[in-house]
Amino acid sequence: MGTILDGKALAKLKADKLKEKVKILKEKGINPLFCVINIGENPASQVYIRSKGRLAKKIGIEQKLYQLPTNTQESEVAELIKKLNADPSVDGMMIQLPVPEQINITNLMEIIDPSKDVDGLTPANSGRLWQGHHFVEPATPDGIIALIDHYQIDLEGKNVVVIGRSDIVGKPIAALALERNATVTILHSKTQNPEFYLKHADVIISAVGQANLIKADMIKEGAVIVDVGINHVDGHLVGDVDFDDVKNKAGWITPVPGGVGPLTVEFLMEQVVKLARRRNDRK
Ligand code: NDP
Repeated sequence: MGTILDGKALAKLKADKLKEKVKILKEKGINPLFCVINIGENPASQVYIRSKGRLAKKIGIEQKLYQLPTNTQESEVAELIKKLNADPSVDGMMIQLPVPEQINITNLMEIIDPSKDVDGLTPANSGRLWQGHHFVEPATPDGIIALIDHYQIDLEGKNVVVIGRSDIVGKPIAALALERNATVTILHSKTQNPEFYLKHADVIISAVGQANLIKADMIKEGAVIVDVGINHVDGHLVGDVDFDDVKNKAGWITPVPGGVGPLTVEFLMEQVVKLARRRNDRK
């Protein structure tokens, strides 16, 4: 069986270290505060917000939730963002995705102050990422790179195949893998013959949201499999990868749950602390 890439254990290790860092910041009078704007009643969003809140509390970060009704207009969210941009006590903010259809998230990303952009999704921070200037990155890709580094997997010269091209996972993880000198291919729903790319992949990072998308006969022997997908099947949480089928052929594999998920939440906290520290350095 391939080596399990244990995201849960790494997240705990990192959270313990971050807690120490926050303690030191607080002794200097810096109290990290980040705000979550949630529009509507998406049940999965509620679960994610609670899990962020729990970790924030454990680490010593204050999370403030702005819960807005489903019929909130984009202009109202824009006003709230401007208020938080101007509030010196706020270190960072994020808009919980997905948002109701009347809200254009791209417009709102133009308004968030990039120095308070916890998710790294503003145009300024997305651009910086592709230019190799690390200001703040989306948490999931950062967590994946930390996991790969922790297990000393070298991406240089490797064929890395990313499945999915979202702004929050697919594109930024492609940028980070490219920066590590991998040869990167991004697959999406219109890709012809995905099997061809998967067969030649040294590393597969799947961020689709489709259970059992990846089977053992699609991958190369010894490949590194990073499963970002979260799917609910018969009351269980599963990824995009058919874990039981793939685990014996893969060289390394992330479980779901316990792989990328815990690292995402932990790295969100890392970003909050990073922004808090930078903002205070500038004072
Ligand atoms: P999106 O829905 O934004 O993106 C999904 C991507 O998958 C799209 O680019 C889409 O292509 C592509 N896609 C859909 N079907 C196929 C297919 N059959 N073959 C190849 N590509 C396909 O999702 P996210 O990136 O936000 O999230 C992806 C998954 O990861 C979800 O399950 C989500 O819940 C999970 N997730 C998990 C996190 C964690 O911490 N573990 C964090 C964030 C997300 P196209 O662009 O052409 O439509």
